[in-house]
Amino acid sequence: MEFSDNRFSELFNKQKVNQFHVGNSTYKERIKKLKRLKFALEHTYRQSLKEALYKDFKKPFVETDLTELYLVIKEIKVAISNLKSWTSKVKVETPLTLFGTTSWIHYEPKGVCLILSPWNYPMNLTFSPLVSAIAAGNTVFIKPSELTPNSSKVMADLIKDIFNEDEVVLIEGAVDEAQELLKLPFNHIFFTGSPAVGKIVMEAASKHLTSVTLELGGKSPTIIDETANIDSTIQNLVWGKHINNGQTCIAPDYVWIHESIKDSFIEAYKNKLEVYYSSEVSSSDSYCRVVNNKHFNRLVSYIENAKETGATIEFGGHYNSEDNFIEPTVISNLKEDTLLMQEEIFGPILPIKTYKNIDEVINYINTKEKPLALYIYSKNKRTINYILNNTRAGGTCINTNALQVSNHYLPFGGSNNSGIGKTHGFFGFQDFSNQRAVLKRHSVGPLNLLFPPYNNFKQKL
Ligand code: NAD
Repeated sequence: MEFSDNRFSELFNKQKVNQFHVGNSTYKERIKKLKRLKFALEHTYRQSLKEALYKDFKKPFVETDLTELYLVIKEIKVAISNLKSWTSKVKVETPLTLFGTTSWIHYEPKGVCLILSPWNYPMNLTFSPLVSAIAAGNTVFIKPSELTPNSSKVMADLIKDIFNEDEVVLIEGAVDEAQELLKLPFNHIFFTGSPAVGKIVMEAASKHLTSVTLELGGKSPTIIDETANIDSTIQNLVWGKHINNGQTCIAPDYVWIHESIKDSFIEAYKNKLEVYYSSEVSSSDSYCRVVNNKHFNRLVSYIENAKETGATIEFGGHYNSEDNFIEPTVISNLKEDTLLMQEEIFGPILPIKTYKNIDEVINYINTKEKPLALYIYSKNKRTINYILNNTRAGGTCINTNALQVSNHYLPFGGSNNSGIGKTHGFFGFQDFSNQRAVLKRHSVGPLNLLFPPYNNFKQKL
C-alpha cells in the first residue's frame, strides 16, 4: 500500500520498499554500517559536531566528547560486540505436551522507524537510538530538534554522507515536520522529549497501532540522609546538576536532605561550584548556557516566583539575558505550589527540602508522577533498600547520579509519565525488534491427539 497525501510519502515509500533488503542484512553487514557511523563520529565529523554544539549553547568541547560522542561510540561498541548473539535464534523450552516440536524466538526488524529527538543532548539522543535501529535491521527517519539547528545541520550532512535515503534519512525541521511525519504508518516510533509531547506522539501512533518507545522527563528527586558522605555527595551532585547547565533529563531536579546536615551541605555545594567553575562562573569555559531565550525566561520566572512567594535564595539567583546565563542557584523554604516544585526545572536551579523522617520523603515522592531517576546518598544499607522498595522510578544511582545512563548493559528509560520502553544495548535492540515466535514440528508425537475426530479415547484423556 502506497501513501501519497504527505510531503514525506515518497521517502517513506522508498524505505518501505527497501525494508526487506535492509532487514535481511547479516549481522556482519550491520556491523559494517555501525563502523561507518563510528568512524564519522570519531574522525570525519567529530570537530564539526563539537563546533556546532558550541554554537548552539556554548557546550564545552570536552562535555560534547564525554556526554554525546563517547556515549554513542560506546553504544556502537556494545552493539558490535554482541550483535551476533542478539541476532541469533533464542531456543526456548518445549513442554512435554508439545513433544516432537522445537520452539525459538526470532528477532526480526520492525521495519520503517521514526526517531524524534530533543535538543538537550542532540547527538547522543539522535544517534544512540539510531545504533539500536540499525543493529536490529530497520530503515529509519530521524527528526532532530529545531532548537539546536547547528547540530541538526551537521548531523544531516553526516547521515547523507554515510547512508542512502532509502535506508536512513534525517529531516531538519520543527513541530510541523514532526506532525507531518507522525501521520505516516511507521512500524515503530522512538521519541525522546517531554511527557506533554510524548502524549501527542502516542496518540498519533495509536492511529496506526504503531509501537512506541517514549523516553520522557519529569522531576527526578535526590535523597541525602544523615549518614551520607558530604564530600563525595557534593562532588557527584554538583556535577550531575550543572553538567549541560542542568538541561539533562536525569539531572537531580530537587533535593530532600536530612535537616541535620543542611547547613554543611549548602556550604560544601558553594565551595564545590567554585572549584568546578571558579568564582566567576560566567567566564568559566566549563559552564554552558541555557539553550535559548524562551527557556531562559522560563527559568527566570521560576526564580522570581520563588522570591515572590517567600523562598530563601541560599546563593546564586543572578542572570543575564544577553547571554542566556543563569548562575548556579540553590533555593530553600519553597512552598509546594511554586513553579520550581511543580515543573521539571531543566536548568541550573536546585530546590532543597529538609526532612526529619524518611517516610515523609517517600510519601511525598509517591504522590508525584514516577520519576525518570531517583538518587540516594546514604551509607545505611537498610535506608537504601527501604527507599528502593518503597518508591518507583525509571532508574536509580546510589551515592552518585546520572551515571546509570553510561552503563549500556543497564536498561535506560522511565516508567509511565517518565517513559515507556527501554533503550541501550540489548534493550534498545529489543525495542526496535519484533520477537517473532516460531514453532517447528518434527515428528508425529502426542500432537496427533489434537485432531478430530474426538473419539472415546480422546474424550477420556
Ligand atoms: P520536546 O518534547 O519539546 O521536543 C522533542 C521533539 O518533539 C523535538 O524534535 C520537537 O521538534 C518535537 N515536537 C515538539 N512539539 C511537538 C508537537 N506538538 N508535535 C510533534 N512533535 C513535537 O522536548 P525538548 O524540549 O526538546 O526536550 C526536553 C524534554 O525532553 C524534557 O522533558 C526532558 O526531560 C526530556 N528528555 C528525556 C530524555 C530521556 O532519555 N528520557 C532525554 C532528554 C530529554
